[in-house]
Order: sequence, then structure tokens, then C-alpha cells
Amino acid sequence: MELIAGPCSAETPTQLLSVAKELSQINISYFRCGLWKPRTNPGGFEGVGAKGLDWLNQVQAQYGLKVATEVASPKHVEQCLKHSIDALWIGARTTTNPFSVQEIAQSLKGTDIPIFVKNPLNPDINLWIGAIERLSNAGLKHISAVHRGFSFANNGIYRQTPYWKEAVQLKVHYPQMRVLCDPSHIAGKRELVTQVALQAIQLGLDGLMIEVHCHPQEALTDASQQLCPQEFTSLIECIKHSQSHKTNTSLLLGELRKEIDVVDWQIIDLLQQRMNISSHISTIKKENNIPLLQITRFQQMMQDRLAQAKAQDLNPKLIEDIFELIHSESLRIQNKDTND
Ligand code: PEP
Ligand code: MN
Repeated sequence: MELIAGPCSAETPTQLLSVAKELSQINISYFRCGLWKPRTNPGGFEGVGAKGLDWLNQVQAQYGLKVATEVASPKHVEQCLKHSIDALWIGARTTTNPFSVQEIAQSLKGTDIPIFVKNPLNPDINLWIGAIERLSNAGLKHISAVHRGFSFANNGIYRQTPYWKEAVQLKVHYPQMRVLCDPSHIAGKRELVTQVALQAIQLGLDGLMIEVHCHPQEALTDASQQLCPQEFTSLIECIKHSQSHKTNTSLLLGELRKEIDVVDWQIIDLLQQRMNISSHISTIKKENNIPLLQITRFQQMMQDRLAQAKAQDLNPKLIEDIFELIHSESLRIQNKDTND
């Protein structure tokens, strides 16, 4: 499972390095943070911009972490490439705009930097697919998708509504491509993040991008949804536990299914033996001119079988049906033998 974690935004070198230190203890594939923040309304914190690139280089050097950030223009791409940023992502607001995506794709031509494409805010899977194709047409080979929820007039308990069907549909559309989930932006509040993350992994998505901050309440962006490092560690434990439980359950089911197979083979074997005996009986009946159907014998046999079923706590109706079928098959075989 691929794990990407880090703060929503880079705020100060100290903030960035302290969370990087915590996350370097965990096996994550990329340390994330936004430098250029696309904000819905003007006037908010719009990110530290290009100066954060040096801070990310410090994270790489000091903690050996690979780093990823969001790009929304060719200028961002150019600056990130110059600073050896390890991976990029295209944010939901940019994926919405094919012009921007095309320009970014153009600026990435000739590189093989891994790129993550978040779904657009509006629930249009074709816009998401279109962005992935523009990047793929530009020759990029390491493209992943990130399901971060879609925006509806009413998102219920979520900040942005998860559209699991679309995320799974995307995996079907691109079997080779990884589809991750960003439960932080879906949840919007930390209490809900683990639950959404678990759901994503249980549905078979390939990884998670999660916002982590050492002091989430004081974060300059997305304060209510970021997890502190301890909460992030518990989330991972929770997922590991659910996965190992799933593995144990499927191992046990596998063993029991093998036992069922053996029993079924024995049933078929016994049926074959029974039919052979019927055939033998038909020869004797034929030689001695005895009628094939001996109704009293059949009634007696059925009574015995039902009594045994009852003693063994089996459904008598099941046993009755099975022996009616077996008996009629015996008669069919005996008739066939007679007519031969
Ligand atoms: C983010 O990851 O911080 C971000 C802005 O995400 P999105 O584009 O999914 O809103
Ligand atoms: Mn965010």
C-alpha cells in the first residue's frame, strides 16, 4: 500500500522539518506539502511559494524522504524540476481545467517524474480520465490517480462526497494504474479520516494521501482535517489490523473450501458405487423376472433414511429430495439395462 503523508501546506521550515522528522519513522513513499495553495476565496494564506522548495530539499537531505508537491502551472513544474522534487500532483481545482492540464503536460514532456492526478471537484469522471490521458500522451509513465471526493450542493457528513463507484471504475478503466484515496479532503474533519481511509483500502484502492501536521489546530490551511503524527500512526495500525484480519479469514476459508472439495469427491464416489450396485440388482431382477419397482422396499428405505437424518440433525426434506433423485436415477439405470 502506497502512503503519502505530510502537511496540507508548508508554513515555516521548523513546521515542515518537525513533521518530516516524525514521518521519517514511518514507511511512507512521499512526504507531501503544498507550496502554492489554490484557495477558493482570496485573502487567505496562499502558500509560501517557491521559497518552500529549499525547505523540501532540506527534508530530502535531513530525513532521506522523497518529497511531493502540487503544481498548477508550467512555471511551478519548471521550479520543481530545477529543485529535484521527487513527485508532483495536480490538484482538484486544476484537473477541472483542460487548458491548464494541457500546459502542465506540455511542460513535463521528456521527464519521467511520477505524477498524481486528483479528481476534479465536479463529479465528472471523463474530466479526470481526460487529464490522465493528456499526461500519458505527453509520455509520462508513472501516473497515479487520487480520489479526493467530489463537490455536491449537499455533501452530508463529508467535506466532499466520496464517489467510490467512480474510483473503482477508474481502476477497471486503467488496470495498470494505481488509484489512491485522499481521505483528508473527503472527510474534512479528523474524526472521520480513519473511517474513510479504511473504506478505501477495503474497496481495493492502492494507497492513501493523508494530511499530517504536528499541531493541526494551528495549521494555516485545513486545520480541522489534519492528523497529528500519533493519530496517523494509529490509522496505519488500524488498516494493518484490518488487512491481517482479512488475510487470516481468507486463509481459513481456503482451508475449509479444500475440505468441502474432498467431501464432495467422496459423495460423487459413493454415488457411483451406489449406481453400480443398482445395475447389478437390475441384472438379478431381469434374470429372475422380478418387477423393477418394489414400492414397499422404497418406502422402507425412505423411512430409514429419514430416521437417520433426524438422528444426525439433518434437514429431513433435504434427505428426502436427495433420495428421491437417487432412487429415480437407479430406476432409470435399471430400465436402461433392461431395455439394452
Ligand atoms: C491538497 O492536497 O492540499 C489540496 C489542495 O488538495 P485538493 O486539490 O484535492 O483540494
Ligand atoms: Mn489540504
